[in-house]
Amino acid sequence: MFKILAHPYSLRLKNIRSSRLLNHKREGALLRFSFPDGSSGYSDLHPWEEFGDLSLDQEIELLKSGRPTALGFRALQLAAKDAEFRRQGVNALEGLTVPKSHFLLSGDEHKDHKLLETIANSGFDTLKIKAGSALDFLDELVGALKHHPFKIRIDFNERLDAGSLPDALNRLKPLEEKIDFLEDPTRFDREMWIKAMERSRIPFAKDMRLEEAFSDKSIPILVMKPAKQNEEMFLQEMHPEQKVVVTSYLGHPLGQVQAAYVAGVMQKSIPLETAGLKSHHQYETDAFSERLGPLSPHFQAPAGTGWGFDDLLPKLSWS
Ligand SMILES: [Mg+2]
Repeated sequence: MFKILAHPYSLRLKNIRSSRLLNHKREGALLRFSFPDGSSGYSDLHPWEEFGDLSLDQEIELLKSGRPTALGFRALQLAAKDAEFRRQGVNALEGLTVPKSHFLLSGDEHKDHKLLETIANSGFDTLKIKAGSALDFLDELVGALKHHPFKIRIDFNERLDAGSLPDALNRLKPLEEKIDFLEDPTRFDREMWIKAMERSRIPFAKDMRLEEAFSDKSIPILVMKPAKQNEEMFLQEMHPEQKVVVTSYLGHPLGQVQAAYVAGVMQKSIPLETAGLKSHHQYETDAFSERLGPLSPHFQAPAGTGWGFDDLLPKLSWS
């Protein structure tokens, strides 16, 4: 078996409005797994209880007792990968081509023209925006983004009800040409989604309970999260015509490196869409996120072996 030590961390959200929505901090833990051969590897564990994950303590407890959830099991799998790279003394991202990323806007950032200009000048061509059930917010987005060149992804986390979807699509009409996709606009209803896509000519992407759309080419885009899904299984289950967006789990920077690694590995088999791997801009900068480099859609691998951060990791408190 293996032994686990944990380093609980909290990430401080930068934006006031999103802080109010999602609390000020996001909690997770870095895990250090010690394997029987004497090697050790690290993983990020960043549960989202509001989206069905267990609490951090429960996730760790189940891992320790050998009954991990999908999230815990992936943490173990990826830590084993890290241990392998550290044993060999190589960086996990060496030789891999990682897709570029979108920029994730939070709160009222879409209203900040200066910020949008900075994002564009840094090379980003795609924005991802989280929306809720308020349709007025969509009018606001139209006003703010109509004259910007970005492609736009809007993630509703299934918060629209089926009855308001046509209205939402109508309001987004002026952005039609710019919209890359709408993610989980409503609770999944295959027939309803297909009809709405045909009528609006706007593609939908599936992220939550993604398995429901595996091998279904009528659902054109899948959002793959390496924190939860195994890349080999995913490649077997998806339809070759489905497009894939690999995103981080909005956790620790080490988790972003893990997601970037998986994206790089998948890209050896299939071309990937613009990804979502640069989520650290959501949070206040720390010693880890600093290593991910300046504002850019390109993923910068932190120096070191495995996931990197070789000098920072041993200095943390582990228990
Ligand atoms: Mg999503």
